[in-house]
Amino acid sequence: MTANAAERLIQHYVDNFRRLPWRAPPGSQPPDPYRVWLSEIMLQQTTVATVTPRFERFVGRWPTVQALAAASDEDILSEWAGLGYYARARNLIACAREVARRGGFPSTAAELRVLPGVGAYTSAAIAAIAFGERVPAVDTNVRRVIARLEALARPGRSAIEQRLFEMMHGQRPGDVVQAMMDLGATVCRPAKPRCEICPLAPDCAAFASGAREAFPARRVKAPRPQRHGLAYWTERAGCVWLVRRPAKGLLGGMAALPGSEWGDSRSAGVNPAGSIRHVFTHFSLELQLVVKTEPEGEGWWQPFGDLDAAGLPTLYRKAADLMLGRDDRLAA
Ligand code: SF4
Repeated sequence: MTANAAERLIQHYVDNFRRLPWRAPPGSQPPDPYRVWLSEIMLQQTTVATVTPRFERFVGRWPTVQALAAASDEDILSEWAGLGYYARARNLIACAREVARRGGFPSTAAELRVLPGVGAYTSAAIAAIAFGERVPAVDTNVRRVIARLEALARPGRSAIEQRLFEMMHGQRPGDVVQAMMDLGATVCRPAKPRCEICPLAPDCAAFASGAREAFPARRVKAPRPQRHGLAYWTERAGCVWLVRRPAKGLLGGMAALPGSEWGDSRSAGVNPAGSIRHVFTHFSLELQLVVKTEPEGEGWWQPFGDLDAAGLPTLYRKAADLMLGRDDRLAA
């Protein structure tokens, strides 16, 4: 990697950078660490296109980490609904409160790393982008670009980090990280990389080899296990009975339909009114919906017309839509 390549990378970034609400333009004052942190947590599971309007709503409602720390768990969890993986929202709350207690975000990756929900990548990204620390932040986009640059089929983490660290020499670390993220997202894409417009093409071993997409080698994914569960649909006077899931575990603390534990096989002897399928990170779930006449567990009656306010996660929203869509009561 020559200094020349890093300079071309930064020039390409200056000319083409994506305007995102958590970013600062290259060369200007670094962005607010609160916004960098929040965007990185949201982006861990979801695309930039989905995150952008949700991010704007979040910071419109809670413009500072202190404001977020002072909000109620329920308000934050319902604002998070649909952004996936609710353990992240729980860590988000814990992290905001810890940062507010400290009086602000720490400024190094090592100190950021100990905050709830902040892993190796996120801590490095915040430190480099918001505080200018020369620390390599490697996400899947950056990993792919460097694996291709060096024609590494199975790159180790330290080899990738070392290359990125070298590219930061004499440059603003945050600009290098963001330039690489953008290049991976828009030019060095997983399929059909746009090498003809890539500023790194003269240095790229994969490009020279003609087998650009062979690097890095694809990981063979294990099939997702299938799980099954029941959800109970109990309605009265235009309302449905909802409960809150236990704070720990999948969808922890979220509003839900009551139901069974999720297991490896279907429950015998039930007569479901319908079923939905939902894919989680580590398994697929088939949820059978069973109509009950009496409410189960501790909960509350939620009006059909005000389901949005309950902050139902996608799984239960799909279930409610299925049950309500059946006789068009939502449209009534
Ligand atoms: Fe990726 Fe092509 Fe650029 Fe190499 S030349 S980094 S393969 S876009």
